[in-house]
Formats: sequence, structure tokens, C-alpha cells
Amino acid sequence: MQLQFGSFQSHLVSTTNSRIQCRLLQPRPSFGIAFDIDGVLLRGQHPIGGSTKALRRLYVDSTFSGTLKVPFLFLTNGGGTPESRRAIELSELLGVNVLPSQVVQGHSSFKSLLNRFENELIIATGKGQPDLVMSEYGFKKVFSIGEYASFFENIDPVSQYKSWTSKQAFDSNCDPHGSMRRQSVLSERVKAAFVVSDPVDWGRDIQVLCDVLRSGGLPGHQNGNLNQVPLYFAADDLEYQGAFPFKRLGIGAFKIALESIFERIHHIPLEYVCYGKPNPLVFKNVEAVFRQILLSHCDDHFVNKGDIEVNGFKTLYMIGDNPVVDIKGAREAGRPWFSILTRTGVFKGKENHVEFPADLVVNTVEEAVDYIFASEHIS
Ligand SMILES: [Mg+2]
Repeated sequence: MQLQFGSFQSHLVSTTNSRIQCRLLQPRPSFGIAFDIDGVLLRGQHPIGGSTKALRRLYVDSTFSGTLKVPFLFLTNGGGTPESRRAIELSELLGVNVLPSQVVQGHSSFKSLLNRFENELIIATGKGQPDLVMSEYGFKKVFSIGEYASFFENIDPVSQYKSWTSKQAFDSNCDPHGSMRRQSVLSERVKAAFVVSDPVDWGRDIQVLCDVLRSGGLPGHQNGNLNQVPLYFAADDLEYQGAFPFKRLGIGAFKIALESIFERIHHIPLEYVCYGKPNPLVFKNVEAVFRQILLSHCDDHFVNKGDIEVNGFKTLYMIGDNPVVDIKGAREAGRPWFSILTRTGVFKGKENHVEFPADLVVNTVEEAVDYIFASEHIS
């Protein structure tokens, strides 16, 4: 690590506190850390791998609530809740103060489509509150696929056997708002469909999406040679590590099911775009988020802001548990990304992953942070 003399001489004359001077004599690093969540920091709702201890090292103060020593964020393909709400959940589970700007979820990339669909009728599916997620991004006419389907009688022919679904009644006689929404759904074409998080009712969602995508956005109507309605996935994970001891099917598995059925029914390829890791664009885009965190929330004594503003980050560490998602994405993004694979989630091998080897393999996230602090000469 090269010493940046110019950047800390001024600090030396501005303080007489020997402890701070001691700190400033060290080179100030130019790096950031992106943490995957499931299988790295949490398994289900429980912290794993010494994650709470590891994260606390990244804060300047002992309340773990304010200024950061190191710019860090959470880069997850999970989702279904707005970033603001997810930040509160993570704060409670991990014992540090997480800011909404530090939460980058698979569906965060959907914000880039606001210009195109802001005032268009769109549908969103997935666990949690997919419609609220999209509304908070600024989309004005968004329906959850559940609410949307409820306006079409018998669109899901087995719905009466689903004890978990709550019938959504939109009685136009007593609910003017419901009447307007019903009118909108039955007269307008859907302009885009979004898979925001892991779908809950695969059967219904595949049925309704096949209807919407091929009909030009209005189930029960002829296509009229319209193009397929655009379809966006927040992620493409085939499997992920949840609370169950073995891996669970993810959005990528749902995509395979939808694609296979759509193509068997309609005899044309399904067109779609997948965001989330390992899409290298996600890694490139998140560099701007790192800069924002650096400028707004980091202590100048610890991080070399000036150098980063001029030269960019020297290293961005991606700590993940899934070789085909976290490691593949960081590798394809290239410099300044450095990939660290933990053994607490999807990957459990003794050696490195064969197809997508990480730059470093460790047992836990705590070991990963130990390595980073040692490499960057900070304590
Ligand atoms: Mg993971």
C-alpha cells in the first residue's frame, strides 16, 4: 500500500491528539466491501459466521450507528421488501445501524426502468410486497399479480383449493377506488411484468404470466400480432441457502419452469431480462453506490476519499457463498473487484470452486474481514 503523504499531512498539523496522529500515520485505504446476505451473514433470521462481530469492526464508534471506517453495503439477490424496510430488518438482526442506501437488492435495478414504465400498467410478483417495492421506486400503476388475477374470474381454475389465499373482493358498488382499479385492469394492456422476488404461488403465476405475456397484455384477448410483453427478473439464482439445511429453489428455478411451459404452449422463445448477480452490470453500477456511501458516511481519517475520487477504488471486496452468483459476477466485473468465497452457505467445498474459483476461500465472513483488515493494514 503506497503512502499518500499529501493527503494526511494536513491532518497531522490540525490535531494534537496522539492517538489520532498514530492512526493517521497509517496509510488510509481505498477499498470497500460488498456483503451477500443469505448464507454469509444470515441463515434465515439468524446471524452466522461471526457476522455481527465482523460488521461492528466497520464502524468508528462503539454504538455501531454512525460513521463508517470502511464503505460497505449489502449486495443481495434476495428481496420482496423496500430497501428502507430491509435496512431496518438487517439492523435488528445484525446489531448495527444499516442505512437504506447500503441495501442493494436484485430488484433495485428495476429503478432504471422507471422512465419507460412510470405511468404504464405493470404487474409484479414474488414473496413479500412486490407491488409496494415497485411503488416506492416511483411506478404509478402497479398491481401485485394476486390482485391483478383477482379481477379475472376463473383465471386460476384451482384457486378454490388453495386454503392459503385470501379472496380479494373489489366490490365496485361500495369501493370507488376498487372500481377504478378494476376498470383499469380490464381495459388496459399490461406493459411489463416483473418477478421481484421468489414467487409464492408458482402455478397461478405461471398461468397468469403466460396469459399476459402472449396476449399482448390483456388475458382473454387475442394477441393481434403484438410483441411479447417485456418480462424482467430481479435475479436468476437457481438455488440459495435458506434456513433449511439443504439448498432451496430460487427465482432462477421459477424462470426455467415459466420458460419451459411458455415455449411448449406458444411455440416461441420466451424473451426476458435478468438483473441481480452475476450480471456484471450490477457490480459496475454498485460502484456508484459505494462512492455515495463513502462521501456521506465515512470518516476521512480512515478512508482516502481524495484518492478514491480521483483514481477510483483500488479494491472492492465481494464476500459471497455462491460461486455461480457472487464469485462469477465479481470475476466477470473485473477490476477493482476481489472475490471471497465463504463456506457457510451454498458452497461447502474444501478447495476452491472448480468452474468459478474465488480469489480467496475462507470458512466464515469473520475470517474474510480479518483478511481484508490485515491486507489493508487497518485495525
Ligand atoms: Mg448467498
